[in-house]
Amino acid sequence: MKTAFVPILFLFSSLAAAADVQPVELHQKLSLPAGSTDKVVALTLDACGGGFDADLVDFLIEHRIQATIFATRRWIRRNPDALATLKAHADLFDIEDHGANHIPAIIGADRNVYGLAGAADLKQLKREVSGGADAVKAATGTAPRWYRGATGEYDPEAIKAIEAMGYKLAGFSVNADSGATLEKKKIVGRLKKVRSGDIIIAHLNKPASDTGKGMAEGLQLLLDRGFRFVTLRDAQVVPVGGR
Ligand SMILES: [Zn+2]
Repeated sequence: MKTAFVPILFLFSSLAAAADVQPVELHQKLSLPAGSTDKVVALTLDACGGGFDADLVDFLIEHRIQATIFATRRWIRRNPDALATLKAHADLFDIEDHGANHIPAIIGADRNVYGLAGAADLKQLKREVSGGADAVKAATGTAPRWYRGATGEYDPEAIKAIEAMGYKLAGFSVNADSGATLEKKKIVGRLKKVRSGDIIIAHLNKPASDTGKGMAEGLQLLLDRGFRFVTLRDAQVVPVGGR
């Protein structure tokens, strides 16, 4: 009796585990030397799909602000002129992988995050990651080393799979524009709270949103406070509680 019972228990426990899987948001900061008084932050900008916020990028160029751009294959194909602008300033902008088609790193097409359906299975997730990476490599000549999944939410299983493909996962500590949905005042308010080591996330694909204006005002305040900006290219990050 005992031997027949054990597999049934295993079955129940694994079903329960699958039903309980909740995606996680990765919160990270830059790893700074202990006691460092350096005022340094990383700005990351997602290019999910859609267009190009030229005003925001012009502001970054004018003020020599470095940023890590997470671009999808879809965005790269739709925005050749924007890509040319970013590539013309390769000293400022590091282009990394945001997937092929902006499919979140959660497993199950019947599950969704912020209205976006997950990958059907691990195979599709891997195609999403490698398809985005191939597009970045073809567009820039440099293979990406960082991945940020659509919505920034991940199943633990997806995290393992993406890391096993050799990518570092990019989280954040300050969500500046909540997917380009916030009004200018709120964006500025969030950037006012930035501290050294923060990793900021915002978007450069929604020129009609308040993101460009809010970021310009908020980033100017950070420059005035003496902050400098680094890309994730050579950065070390550590997990933290988000805010
Ligand atoms: Zn995105």
